[in-house]
Amino acid sequence: TTQTHYRPTQAIINLEAIKENVSNLKKFLKPDIKIMAVVKANAYGHGDVKVAEAAIEAGATMLAVATPDEALHLRNFFPNIQILILGYSPVSFAEVAAKENISLTVYSSDWVKQVAIDVNLPLKLHIKIDTGMGRIGVTTIEELLDLYENIEKKNGLIVDGVFTHFATADEEDDSYFIKQVDKFNKLVESLPKRPRIVHAANTATMLMKDPTLHFNAVRFGISMYGLAPSQYVKTKLPFPIKQAFSLETELVAVKLLQKGESVGYGATYKVEDEVYVGTIPIGYADGLIRKLSGQEVLIDGKRVPIIGRICMDQCMIALPAAYNIGEKVTLIGIQNNEEITIDEWAEKVETINYEVPCIITARVPRIYL
Ligand code: PLP
Repeated sequence: TTQTHYRPTQAIINLEAIKENVSNLKKFLKPDIKIMAVVKANAYGHGDVKVAEAAIEAGATMLAVATPDEALHLRNFFPNIQILILGYSPVSFAEVAAKENISLTVYSSDWVKQVAIDVNLPLKLHIKIDTGMGRIGVTTIEELLDLYENIEKKNGLIVDGVFTHFATADEEDDSYFIKQVDKFNKLVESLPKRPRIVHAANTATMLMKDPTLHFNAVRFGISMYGLAPSQYVKTKLPFPIKQAFSLETELVAVKLLQKGESVGYGATYKVEDEVYVGTIPIGYADGLIRKLSGQEVLIDGKRVPIIGRICMDQCMIALPAAYNIGEKVTLIGIQNNEEITIDEWAEKVETINYEVPCIITARVPRIYL
């Protein structure tokens, strides 16, 4: 086969870790609960097709994405699996969705009234109830029943599911969470008929909260990738999870700089004593944002810092010795007894772990183990 990537920078995705995380969840859940693998945003940056394949092999029976484009991409590879779009779909997508057997999220009677589909190709809908996120979803019983009636009136439209999303499931204080649960139950119970699939649990809910909140399906996102939804949840996980994502490259240049010399744009890093400086071919256009300057990387099992400003396509690291060109450098992952986690990066740039693999850009090939 022809080599398609020559630059040594790559994200390594451990599909065994993903399978383990899904099968551990499966053992943890009651046997009749369906697992929906949340593979939106290119599977949180891990690669939608490979992750979906691994998740299905380990027991997931549905896929959830955010957009029509994501659903269509997956449909090419998985002709039979149920796919749900959690976010907005334009009316113009309804006919395609019906033809491709893609389930849509619905929350507006106007949207339903505008839809035109072939009655012989039914379209499956999941009603979204907004119980406190303040984003998409119906918020009152009146709105819900009006939406339901409009769907029922229209041939070819099927209410296949109803769901909500929690804003604070990953926090210790569950007062807001309980309000959302109560509202969801009240609205679902007001429906003339309970839809086939009722779902509410994101990772934090399924791992931390009462099992009745699994209803009959759960939406497994962040911990499928081996990451905890919050620091609080991380201390209380009911089963171990394994991080699937690592990021590696190699040294492409090494030089000895002397006192008084400097490194990078702005010459911000001043050499104090002499130091070996290594260049690695990864920069902010790969998602190694400039705020990560100072972050440590692993070489030869040791932690060394990124020095100076991060360039678009490369950056520099301080080396304890004159390593050879081609020496492996791990930005996220394990070398010997040292590990740099996604959580460590998240803390460094003051964000959540969810954001880290998502911002590693498409220029970095995803390689699968
Ligand atoms: N459900 C919805 C509607 C979501 O937007 C998301 C992710 O943002 C999830 C489920 C998955 O959440 P988590 O990754 O915390 O499991």
